[in-house]
Amino acid sequence: MLETPHVIVGAAIATKISNPLISLPLAFGSHFILDKIPHWNPHLNTETQKHGKITKKTTAFVALDVGLALISGLTIASSSLPSINQTLIVLFGAFFAVLPDVVEGPYFFLNYKTNFIKKWIAFQKSIQTDTTPVPGLIIQILTILAAIAWLVA
Ligand SMILES: [Zn+2]
Repeated sequence: MLETPHVIVGAAIATKISNPLISLPLAFGSHFILDKIPHWNPHLNTETQKHGKITKKTTAFVALDVGLALISGLTIASSSLPSINQTLIVLFGAFFAVLPDVVEGPYFFLNYKTNFIKKWIAFQKSIQTDTTPVPGLIIQILTILAAIAWLVA
């Protein structure tokens, strides 16, 4: 999925489940569960193979997603203030939920192509359930709304 739904679900888990020893591994695990739900993401891998790099349009889309993810994560975490401890835990929840994709960033955007990252990308690719853009984006919006509904419940 995009980084925004990953971050919102991870931050929601860390907000709602008070024990970080449970919530943080769950936030990390949520990444792989969300990627199993049919969704649409820009095809970074296909573009890299076809053009040698990612197109400007896709880079802009990824930047928008990452920006939204950051704003969402910070907003949800700040609702735990004044507890610095809980705010940090929620930030970690958001971070762990995107960590599987964060490790791919240098490969696609910094041309850092190590064997470990290549194997990791192949693994993540193997567990994705892809669909076409319209249903794929609607499903992600619904995922975000479900996480927010849980958050405010
Ligand atoms: Zn992923």
